[in-house]
Amino acid sequence: MIEQNLKFENSSNTNLKTKVPVAIGDGIGPEIMNATLKILEKAGAQIEPEYIDLGEQVYLSGNSAGITDSSWKTISDAGIILKAPITTPQGKGYKSLNVTLRKSLGLYANVRPVLSLHPFVATNHPEMDVVIIRENEEDLYAGIEHRQTQDVVQCLKLITRPGCERIINYAFEYAKAYGRKKVTCMVKDNIMKLTDGLFHEVFDEVAKKYPEIKAESQIIDIGSARLANRPQDYDVVVTSNLYGDIISDIAAEIAGSVGMAGSANIGSNVAMFEAIHGSAPDIAGLGIANPSGLLNAASMMLAHIGQKETADKIRNAWLYTLEQGLHTADIYREGLSKRKLSTSDFADVVIQNL
Ligand code: NAD
Repeated sequence: MIEQNLKFENSSNTNLKTKVPVAIGDGIGPEIMNATLKILEKAGAQIEPEYIDLGEQVYLSGNSAGITDSSWKTISDAGIILKAPITTPQGKGYKSLNVTLRKSLGLYANVRPVLSLHPFVATNHPEMDVVIIRENEEDLYAGIEHRQTQDVVQCLKLITRPGCERIINYAFEYAKAYGRKKVTCMVKDNIMKLTDGLFHEVFDEVAKKYPEIKAESQIIDIGSARLANRPQDYDVVVTSNLYGDIISDIAAEIAGSVGMAGSANIGSNVAMFEAIHGSAPDIAGLGIANPSGLLNAASMMLAHIGQKETADKIRNAWLYTLEQGLHTADIYREGLSKRKLSTSDFADVVIQNL
């Protein structure tokens, strides 16, 4: 279990530290959060974790929102949150707290970098280096879903011009800031002419402002097939909420494991950092989960709050651990890996490599 009261040793002067609300999540959440925070602490991250309540336990206590008022306040006061995955029941039960968090906090951009670590992590795609930028508040995830009759149900796809402008501008600005050469838009506007058509139209308008960056557009079905087969052809991909959710899992899985990728959810006032994967109930409690996705998200968070040096130090130690062939079960391959490590042993080796 997570050491909930894990105090950072380097906490002598807490005034200099950034307060970070931390949600330990459900399923494998506590295991990977514990590993991540240990690494951050030993790397000298100048943060003060503040544990907040949200997720399954809060629902079970009778709070139908899954998050307490005081957690909301802590997050908005801090303007940041590091969150482990939470469980949402499929097809029934309470509304996804992930969607509520993204919408209520105005986290419009979900940034998901996926990089192949060939030859150290097994992948068929050695040159893959793609950043998926997913619109995070609208589309079929806007939560407008209802029953019309006993046999007919409906989910509305909501796309707005301001929403498209914000995410597409963000994608081009991201490409410019990180020296990326191309932005690919993925939509299905041959069928959804108004909604996906609007996204595409805004993409073409915004692209004109960035003549130095190549802009291309693909229909999502062939786009995702090509991303799965030739990911090296992609640089930055911008797309709507549902498509982005799906293609980023595909991208992470073909790079090695869905357990490897971290993400940033960016808004005007708050930023939330989390792994892209879910709470993995099938392996919860076994101590075998890969903490890399959450660790990478935490490194993105450190860079975001001005602690890039510590973020780089962690990333280098993490990369070196993978190079040594010290792998968690999801990326362990006979012949390539040297040793299969538990979640906490993996964290300990990263710490030794700092
Ligand atoms: P999942 O991502 O939890 O798991 C899919 C597969 O990947 C499983 O076999 C799992 O064992 C494996 N996996 C995932 N993360 C791993 C890791 N770090 N190390 C090793 N293996 C890993 O997807 P799911 O099973 O569809 O969803 C489980 C729950 O998570 C659902 O309730 C879902 O709603 C929720 N979920 C939450 C978030 C979030 O909190 N951001 C995101 C996605 C899904």
